[in-house]
Parts: sequence; C-alpha cells; structure tokens
Amino acid sequence: PLMREHFISNPPDVTKLKARLNANENPYGPPASAKQAVVDSVSLGNRYAWKELSDLIGKIVKKEGPGITPNHIMMGPGSSDLLEKVALVEFMNGKGNIVSADPCYMSLVNVAKTVGAKWKAVPCKSDWSHDLAAMEAAIDADTKLVYICNPNNPTGSITAGKELLDFCSRVSEKVPIFVDEAYLELAEGSDTQSMVSLLAQNKNVIVARTFSKIMGMAGLRVGYIAALPAYLNKIQNITRGGMGISYTSVLAASASIEDMEFQATTKKLNTEAKAYLYANLDKMNYKYIPSYTNFVIFPITMDGKDFLAKMYSKGIGIRTFDIQKKTWCRVSMGTMDEMKIFVKALEELS
Ligand code: PLP
Repeated sequence: PLMREHFISNPPDVTKLKARLNANENPYGPPASAKQAVVDSVSLGNRYAWKELSDLIGKIVKKEGPGITPNHIMMGPGSSDLLEKVALVEFMNGKGNIVSADPCYMSLVNVAKTVGAKWKAVPCKSDWSHDLAAMEAAIDADTKLVYICNPNNPTGSITAGKELLDFCSRVSEKVPIFVDEAYLELAEGSDTQSMVSLLAQNKNVIVARTFSKIMGMAGLRVGYIAALPAYLNKIQNITRGGMGISYTSVLAASASIEDMEFQATTKKLNTEAKAYLYANLDKMNYKYIPSYTNFVIFPITMDGKDFLAKMYSKGIGIRTFDIQKKTWCRVSMGTMDEMKIFVKALEELS
C-alpha cells in the first residue's frame, strides 16, 4: 500500500480540543429539528422503532428517486456498519480479492483483508481521481467486489461522474461495484453525480450514504446502502440491517432528511470555510488537492508525527498521512473560528 497514517502514542482528549478538525464531522449539527426529535423520542425507548424505520425508508426512497423502492434500501447505524457487513458477507469464506484505489477509505477493504481477501490496490491518477482503466484491468476471475469512494477520502478528490457511470454500468455486469458516496452531498460542480440511478437499470451497484456528514449526525449513527433487492437479500440472509439503530436515531434521521434548510446551510458554510482555507494555503504556498468534501489535504515538509503532536499541543486535531512518498496534513472544515485557529497555528509552524 502507498498510504500510511501517522499516530502518536498519547493523543489528547479530543473533546477538550479548541478545534476538532480530525474526523470530517459537521460542526453545525445535529440540526435543531433532529434535536427536538431526540427529545421527543426518549420516552419511546421501550419499543422497537419498526414503523418509524419504515417511514424513514419511505423518505429515503423519495430522495433517491425513480426506480428505487424500500426493497432497495438496507439501513445501519452509520454507513460503517454496512461497509463492514458487505465485506464480511462477500469474503466470509476467506477467498477472492477486492479491487480499490490507493489511497482510499480503508474500512471495507480492511475488513475484507482481515477475513482473508486479497487486496488489489490501484494507485490513483496524478489528479487523484480513480484510474478506472487500471481498475478494470485489475479485475480477474477471483474478484468479488470493486470498492470506489467518490469523492475519495483522504484526498477529497472527485472521479468524474460521467466516466464513473460508464465504468459502473459496464463493469457491474462482471462484478458488483460498491460506491461509497459519504461526501457526495457536499460536492459541487458538474463532475459530481450519484451512481444510484444505475439501480433503476438493474445494474449491480451498491451505493452507501450516511447521515454523519451533511446531516450532522455522526454521533447519532444512521446510514444506508441502496442496492438491488437480490443483492441485499444475500447480505440480509446473514446479517440484519435496521436492528442496530436506536429509536432516537431513527427519529432524528427522519427529521434531518427533511431539513433542507439545515443541509443547504451546512453546504454554504462548508464552502466558505474551504475558500478561507484555500486563500490562506495559497498565501503560505501549500499545494492542496481541490476538495469536493468537508476536508482538505495538502503536503507538508515537517515529519507527520511531529506535526500531529505540535498541532495537538496547540489544541488542534488534524490527521497526517504518508501518501505516494509525501507527508500530508488532512484538515476537516470546522466553524470559521476553528479555521482561524488552524490557519494561525499553521503559520506558526511553517
Ligand atoms: N465512508 C467514508 C468515505 C467516510 O469518510 C466515512 C467516515 O468518515 C464513512 C464511510 C463512515 O461514516 P459513518 O459510519 O459515520 O456513516
């Protein structure tokens, strides 16, 4: 693998940081509508939330558009749960391989590897988009799944929607393609497109979404995958979906998904924070990768562990990685106050 993350042995208590810019969370959430739903749901905690879960799936189906039915949706406590479950079911016999980009978000790949899958890592292109031709060439008779994270993490980069649609449409005839769209709702520009429409054409894609990012509910834990009903049957024969989500979180998600004002505000403030950061990185001559997400990554010259430790000592949480022979800082978009704290610290360290 070409990517390696840095860690220090004694990280501080993240809840005490001045600027929590390490986990790509939404600093504005949860929306007021979701907070009210949480309060209202407390006394319902003695019941299962079956009816409310089915109502939430109804709202998701409406959002996802034509051709998507409740049978296309599997819910989970965050999309992590579904990334892991798909990896477990696909690779539980310990055979086969998974094709993904390197770097990419490693949760699904790591679980697959742990149960015995071989990882076929395909380096990203020089613009940090997926090398779709090389990924297609990497598929062989033992490939059970292709994983694509778009926009990608930790790079924040996009793979153009039109090319990805074409790739998924064609290649999913051979092997299922898992497309992780955790950040897609934050992406802007003509290259950004969901792969969910392929399900209406009966293509074997699995699209993951989360309430953790644009909906501001990382700690409330709700996510889902949209996939062909036959594919979901295969997963749900072995492991159930929605049973892991609390009543409270179901109702909070149901409020958030309809709170278009909160989602629009999040997007606007995220764009403003990024513009502020870009302007300051430009000033300091840092060459960042243009981001379609709520985080930005850029190369640094300092040792990754030292940089992490120094930022922590200033009350700032970020992440550092080695990718393709460079050391990088990944910083999440916080409030404007948090971004100012980060920029000032970066100036002091530069
Ligand atoms: N996919 C990507 C690309 C992510 O970056 C994350 C979290 O940061 C997740 C999935 C998992 O998020 P959650 O389990 O909160 O839905």
